[in-house]
Amino acid sequence: MEMSWPAELEALREEADAFAADAVARFGRHDDAWINGYSRELSRELGARGWIGMTWPTEYGGGGRTPIERFIVTEALIDAGAPIAASWFADRQMGPSILVYGTEEQKRAYLPGILAGDTGWCIGMSEPDAGSDLAGLRTSAVRDGDEFVVNGQKIWTSFGTTADYCYLICRTSAPPDGKRHLGISELIVPMQTPGITVKPIVDMHGGRHFCEVYFDDVRVPVANLVGVEGESFKQTMRQLEHERGGIDRLLSNHARYRDALAKADTTDPIVRQEVAALETGYRIGRLLVLRETLKQAPAGFSAATKTFCTEHEQRVADFVARVYGPDALLWDGPDPASGSGSVGQAFCYAPAYTIMGGTANVLRNILAERLLGLPRAG
Ligand SMILES: Cc1cc2nc3c(=O)[nH]c(=O)nc-3n(C[C@H](O)[C@H](O)[C@H](O)COP(=O)(O)OP(=O)(O)OC[C@H]3O[C@@H](n4cnc5c(N)ncnc54)[C@H](O)[C@@H]3O)c2cc1C
Repeated sequence: MEMSWPAELEALREEADAFAADAVARFGRHDDAWINGYSRELSRELGARGWIGMTWPTEYGGGGRTPIERFIVTEALIDAGAPIAASWFADRQMGPSILVYGTEEQKRAYLPGILAGDTGWCIGMSEPDAGSDLAGLRTSAVRDGDEFVVNGQKIWTSFGTTADYCYLICRTSAPPDGKRHLGISELIVPMQTPGITVKPIVDMHGGRHFCEVYFDDVRVPVANLVGVEGESFKQTMRQLEHERGGIDRLLSNHARYRDALAKADTTDPIVRQEVAALETGYRIGRLLVLRETLKQAPAGFSAATKTFCTEHEQRVADFVARVYGPDALLWDGPDPASGSGSVGQAFCYAPAYTIMGGTANVLRNILAERLLGLPRAG
């Protein structure tokens, strides 16, 4: 299927492609540009162009544009490898959550900084014993007057060292029997608050974006509670939907794929078959993302979209490594300063695709139980 945009969208695509190419020339090409390519400078430029919060209501400073326009811009940036990570989490999920569940004061306080690309956010969900089983989280927030006192530990918190705010998921009351999803709340926690300690974790490709974050008697105003106290699990699930259905989950290593394709022996029938399968997978993944973008997918289907797209990314990583052969074992990248790293580093990052944002196993459970109505396992 050949898809083309109407003229006004084609003009936006050309503008976004040109901007992305220029950003790569100035800030380097990054693998996994939305999580491993961090530049506050570029985020501010995106903010100035109105390319953060593109679809948010204009009354809060958003662009009031269509989801397809946002798709076109983000596809161009991520596909090119432009480092958009400093604003991506807030653009993708923190801002939308605040818009839906936040108070008027919270919208006025936090959205302008996000829209300008001035503030960075991290997501404090996972804990050492609560990843897939998020309802098992133990970080507590206990009311003391007009403050919560937060204690506990988060882990795998991307951008823990650089973020201005943590969007924290925590337990504000003990769960009633058998209802572990109750008693959970969402708090906005400024990362400079006394009592927060951040320790970066070096991942196996050498990156340092994720961290352990410790909270020791951290005092957070009750005014920073987002949504309904003790009933935010549904809010968090909705936030995860934003995290799972986007084009970021398809294109993380697409620039690497183009490099490998240019190098591959496409006269080899085996290689040709593999390229055909990857090209097909890419097109199906893009259609799935477009369906999410246009809100044509059934509720919860982003679990399937993310699974399909991230497993495609892993097949791309395998293909790239095979094309480079022994060179894929070299660790030093062609241009380490740009952040693009080596083929070997890119290959080592690939397992993360089907873990972050919900593992493929768990997303298959969601698909089976919520969409297909199959009986619950276990
Ligand atoms: C690159 C990266 C960035 C991340 N960034 C963040 C972040 O910014 N903020 C944040 O809060 N978290 C972040 N995470 C954490 C991520 O959300 C968790 O790693 C993920 O949810 C899985 O949880 P876990 O690591 O505790 O694994 P576990 O939940 O312990 O799972 C271990 C294994 O068991 C399987 N499994 C577990 N339960 C089931 C089940 N019911 N059925 C079948 N199989 C099951 C899983 O599929 C997996 O293979 C990040 C992770 C990565 C890799």
